[in-house]
Amino acid sequence: MNGIGVIGAGQMGAGIAQVSAGAGYRVWLSDIDLETAERAKEHIAAQLGKLVEREKMEAQARETLLDRIEPVGSLEPMASAGMVIEAATEREDIKRKIFEEVGKVLGHKAILASNTSSISITGLARSAPDPERFIGVHFFNPVPLMGLIEVIRGLATSGETVKTVETYANALGKRTVHANDAPGFIVNRVLLPMLNEACFALGEGVATIPDIDAACQLGLNHPMGPLTLADFIGLDTCLHICGVLYSGTGDPKFRPAPLLVKYVEAGWLGRKTGKGFYDYSGDEPVPTR
Ligand code: NAD
Repeated sequence: MNGIGVIGAGQMGAGIAQVSAGAGYRVWLSDIDLETAERAKEHIAAQLGKLVEREKMEAQARETLLDRIEPVGSLEPMASAGMVIEAATEREDIKRKIFEEVGKVLGHKAILASNTSSISITGLARSAPDPERFIGVHFFNPVPLMGLIEVIRGLATSGETVKTVETYANALGKRTVHANDAPGFIVNRVLLPMLNEACFALGEGVATIPDIDAACQLGLNHPMGPLTLADFIGLDTCLHICGVLYSGTGDPKFRPAPLLVKYVEAGWLGRKTGKGFYDYSGDEPVPTR
């Protein structure tokens, strides 16, 4: 496949650019302006620099990888891309506008993919130049470390489009799973009810924050407890996905826990704001209840 275009150079887009370049693809990386895309490349360079320092990557391999990533200030260079992956802010209006813009330059065989966590692929495809060549590729955070891509086929997505994405995922060394275009796909459909239930349990006084986390971590053999994980993901993001599951299925089992809503109202969004179910201002996280 020709190179990969990545639109949106935030935490996911930068990660997608890095792993794509690492697999040998040429990458065009864009954001709202050239400076933001350039900053994202600098961030990738710094992350790879740490790997070189720890002797987990050769300095030459870092240079080669970075040489393959070109920050761009417009979408025109993506006319030569075999696939363009959109990883911009999770807002439907923003994504639709991007698809209309990139549709003007996308090659007639090229694939357009979205990394959306929650918006319907079939619905988004209406703004794509060709719904048969539109697909969901859902990476996980942090992209270089997480081995999974959920592949989501919209109503019109062609088998050939799925095959091309499979080839790309293989080149990246990631395992793919196939999900129908249903709210939350697989991972968030299964995960969010657990995180939400942990919030219900906390709100109902079943146990303390550390005990809920320790119970799930040690009793279920999870790498971290659900409240710690919710803080990592961002409580606003958790609430948003619960809302998508609730409205998308109409099933009351997905209704957001009142305490989760309260934390978001307070602006306690987890690690990114320094406070969520834990306060991260000191050396060690301290429970906030
Ligand atoms: P982020 O906020 O880190 O990055 C989003 C980027 O999009 C920002 O750099 C922003 O400037 C850019 N952007 C906004 N409008 C744009 C436009 N019109 N054109 C180009 N770029 C634009 O967000 P993120 O966490 O990287 O999430 C990006 C996408 O990936 C979302 O759809 C999100 O749902 C999805 N996703 C996120 C995660 C996660 O854990 N963060 C996991 C899987 C999927």
